[in-house]
Amino acid sequence: MSEEFSFRTRAENLDRIAREALDVLVVGGGIVGAGVARDAASRGLRTALVERADFGSGTSGKTSRLIHGGLRYLRKFKVGLVRQAVRERDLLVARAPGLVHPLPFVLPAYRDRGPSKRVMRFGLFLYDFLSKDKKLPRRVWLSSAETRAREPRLNPGGLEGAAIYYDAWADDARLVLAVVRDAARAGAVVANHAEVVGVRREGGRVSGAEIRDRLGDRSMEVRASVVVNATGVWLDRLRWLRDVPTLRPTKGIHIFLPRKKIGNRHALALTARRDGRVVFVLPWGNLTLVGTTDTDFHGDPDRVLPDRDDVAYLLDAVNDAFPESHAGPEDVVSAYAGLRPLLRRGTADASESDISREHSIFEDTDGLISVAGGKLTTHRAMAEQVVDLVCARLRRHVPTRTVAEALGPSLDPLETFMELGFDEETALHLQGRHSAADVRSVLETPVARERIAEGMPHVWAEVALALRQEMATSLEDTMVRRLGLFYEASDQGLSVAVPIAERMAPELGWDVPRVEREVDAYRDLVAAHRAFKGDHGR
Ligand SMILES: Cc1cc2nc3c(=O)[nH]c(=O)nc-3n(C[C@H](O)[C@H](O)[C@H](O)COP(=O)(O)OP(=O)(O)OC[C@H]3O[C@@H](n4cnc5c(N)ncnc54)[C@H](O)[C@@H]3O)c2cc1C
Repeated sequence: MSEEFSFRTRAENLDRIAREALDVLVVGGGIVGAGVARDAASRGLRTALVERADFGSGTSGKTSRLIHGGLRYLRKFKVGLVRQAVRERDLLVARAPGLVHPLPFVLPAYRDRGPSKRVMRFGLFLYDFLSKDKKLPRRVWLSSAETRAREPRLNPGGLEGAAIYYDAWADDARLVLAVVRDAARAGAVVANHAEVVGVRREGGRVSGAEIRDRLGDRSMEVRASVVVNATGVWLDRLRWLRDVPTLRPTKGIHIFLPRKKIGNRHALALTARRDGRVVFVLPWGNLTLVGTTDTDFHGDPDRVLPDRDDVAYLLDAVNDAFPESHAGPEDVVSAYAGLRPLLRRGTADASESDISREHSIFEDTDGLISVAGGKLTTHRAMAEQVVDLVCARLRRHVPTRTVAEALGPSLDPLETFMELGFDEETALHLQGRHSAADVRSVLETPVARERIAEGMPHVWAEVALALRQEMATSLEDTMVRRLGLFYEASDQGLSVAVPIAERMAPELGWDVPRVEREVDAYRDLVAAHRAFKGDHGR
């Protein structure tokens, strides 16, 4: 598992993409494109995957981090949608134990707002019933006293009791990275920071694409029998018929708060008093992740940021559920925003809830195959369908292999990490992200075991892993999606941005001005994500 997957691998891969004719070029390194590349490569197709920014930098790295069936869709009788998601959840829990972890949820029932206990009972019966292998524990019912014992700081006013049910969680960007690495292991040629700037057509049929290397400032032409457009909310930019937009994105934000401020002990699925929407409150180490909002979005998809109203909505919901917390914008450790690539149905005036959360695969008259919608959870099933269609176009009928294959790092015992010289907190942190073999492979310097920032479990070995085995090629890649300091550190990692950039410099050939540019770009990113704080952000 310790093979190189680095800046050098990326450069070699781009040379190969330019040289070799492909069966399938996948555009977009979110969870969907990564899943398609993994499925196609493991069926033996000559596959390439290109991502214009970093893997997981689009919607797939801005999620609620849940691998779930979507219990709330049962209220809309979307049984088929939930059945598929529950089964894919179960598959991920079984096949990716190092990445996807079971998570018990408390679902409180209140007298003054829905859903009623009766509706909850029926919904959760169905939710458990739809799971085929039934590996996750089943629902349990708690009285109001038992609920208060489990969640002492939960608002007791009108509390009738609660249900406990199970879903799962994953670090979304690391899940995408694991799928990308798995695709590469299966033979896919992959590169981040490589953008498709135009689809090539011959005789009205797609024959390849023009790719711009955004780090090397070079362009190349690629020949591919099939091109799959998995660019999420950017989908229409690659299609030649774009008079009617395919998607109607909605924006969703999340905030991280100090867990001791909120006091939640478990994950909770709350019903917001303001509008009856579900808001998740999730434990994340010493932090609590709260999300999400769902508002129409008409702006530039390249610039999606949490604003003051979004944050106020989530703070209202969490303060209502945990009345002693009095959390304000100044308490927010970090916030992020993403766009749901929802499929447009019916009229342009449809409300957000009328927009389909299912996925769709369609083929334009030039042969371009586009895929959009769906969920992080259902990416494997979506990818399987896309690659079935690709195989039909190539007249090569090979069944998918991804149902049976393991995904991501092994889940090694905590002691194995402690035997490598890490304290318990860091060992636990590493265990949720890496295999012990990968960590061991980058421990050649004594500094590798040292912590990067005070009070955070992250160690320098993770920077080495990001560079050598995770294709991190910018400071942002490392801070946001490899280490997660952007989300988890109280200063969003600003105090260690310079030393981390300096550590990356020799591997990536950065000179001093380049280090400065990387750090400035990171500071700008953090400032933009803290702008909602107004005076508090300074
Ligand atoms: C707020 C929110 C919360 C969510 N929570 C969950 C959850 O908890 N669980 C769950 O299962 N699902 C969740 N979802 C849904 C899920 O995140 C999305 O459906 C999924 O991530 C979409 O993945 P994607 O690959 O289609 O899009 P993206 O992740 O956006 O990937 C598309 C990629 O294409 C790249 N790209 C664009 N143009 C080009 C080009 N020309 N050349 C090369 N690359 C290009 C982009 O940079 C981007 O990385 C959530 C969604 C949102 C918005």
